[in-house]
Amino acid sequence: MKNQHNDIISNMEKPTPLEPRPYKLRNPKLEFFCPLCRTERGFTYKSKLSGKNYFQITLVTLLFFPIFGFKIFVFFLAFAAIMELILRIFLKNEIQCPHCGFDASWYKKDIKITRKKIQEFWEKKQKLDPRVS
Ligand SMILES: [Zn+2]
Repeated sequence: MKNQHNDIISNMEKPTPLEPRPYKLRNPKLEFFCPLCRTERGFTYKSKLSGKNYFQITLVTLLFFPIFGFKIFVFFLAFAAIMELILRIFLKNEIQCPHCGFDASWYKKDIKITRKKIQEFWEKKQKLDPRVS
């Protein structure tokens, strides 16, 4: 039964990615295939803070407790907001595919801009390495 299952999988049409062996991410939060070049990709950041992040923020906040007292609660919220903002910036930088330049966040908003961005990406890539066609 298991062999039959493997046969079915190997007979299925395999996607041919632009980059057959991309750099493997160590601890990806989300893994997927690029819809344009079919290369396996992943995100290392999430847009929301994790429990570990809140724990870190709590620790930092507690360090300031002797100085500020209970006003520290405001600092906790501010720290959390700043950390989430930083995470979002990191994630935004990760969205564009490093192999073909496809940006899913722009694709949702404006397809024309997405096309322009991909074109710019390939022009830049060609300038850096003229062998790229
Ligand atoms: Zn891609």
